Amino acid sequence: MKVRKHWTVSALKDFETCPAKYQWSYLYDAEDWRKLGYRVVPSTGSPAMQRGTDIHQTCEDYLLGKVAIEGLHKEIPNAWRNLVRGLKDIGATPEEMWTLDDGWNVVPDNDKSMWLRMKIDAHYLPSQKALVVVDYKTGKPYTSNMEQVELYALAGFAKFDDVDYVQGELWYFDSDEPHEKTFKREAAPKLARKWEQRATALLEAKSYPAKLNRFCNWCPYNYGKGGPCTAPRDLAGRAA
Ligand code: SF4
Repeated sequence: MKVRKHWTVSALKDFETCPAKYQWSYLYDAEDWRKLGYRVVPSTGSPAMQRGTDIHQTCEDYLLGKVAIEGLHKEIPNAWRNLVRGLKDIGATPEEMWTLDDGWNVVPDNDKSMWLRMKIDAHYLPSQKALVVVDYKTGKPYTSNMEQVELYALAGFAKFDDVDYVQGELWYFDSDEPHEKTFKREAAPKLARKWEQRATALLEAKSYPAKLNRFCNWCPYNYGKGGPCTAPRDLAGRAA
């Protein structure tokens, strides 16, 4: 089994939703699966995830000048296309990997001290004191997603010494408007302690029990989908 010394917000979400899902997604390698009797690693992809990836990619390509505005994914509505165009017009930086150590200091990607890793879809500095971070989203807006904006703010304060405010924006292309929140630098220490506790629980976990949750029906590790997790089936059996 792999040993991971860093975390991402997606990994943390998976771990907190169901430790077993995290273990199978992030720690198991092909040999671990072979020992469980799987010759093919269960796929975590889905058409909805692929659509999200495709939409992200066209935005990245557009901001990088690889495609014209017409090259944006056809399912991005006009109002959002105009906002993406606006990002390009102001010179926003697309797709950067931001990596930090456990003291919230910026470190090179894959450095041995790397503790937190996040990909920033787009960011720009509207003034010396302010930073805007944009995250593209597809699907329904979930309140819990807003929390990840705190991490963008913490990383933004670490990267830009002069910045006093970070505005995080979640651009839900399937909805009507961005969800946004602004953070002041003074709030950073308290936010950092909260995330450190959660990250420690993940990185120091010794066991990864299955935890039933509302996403089990879509989980690729569900026994009913050909995966190894029998927890939903066992629960159904007990209820019968
Ligand atoms: S089916 Fe549910 S309990 Fe089992 S691994 Fe997936 S999310 Fe966890």
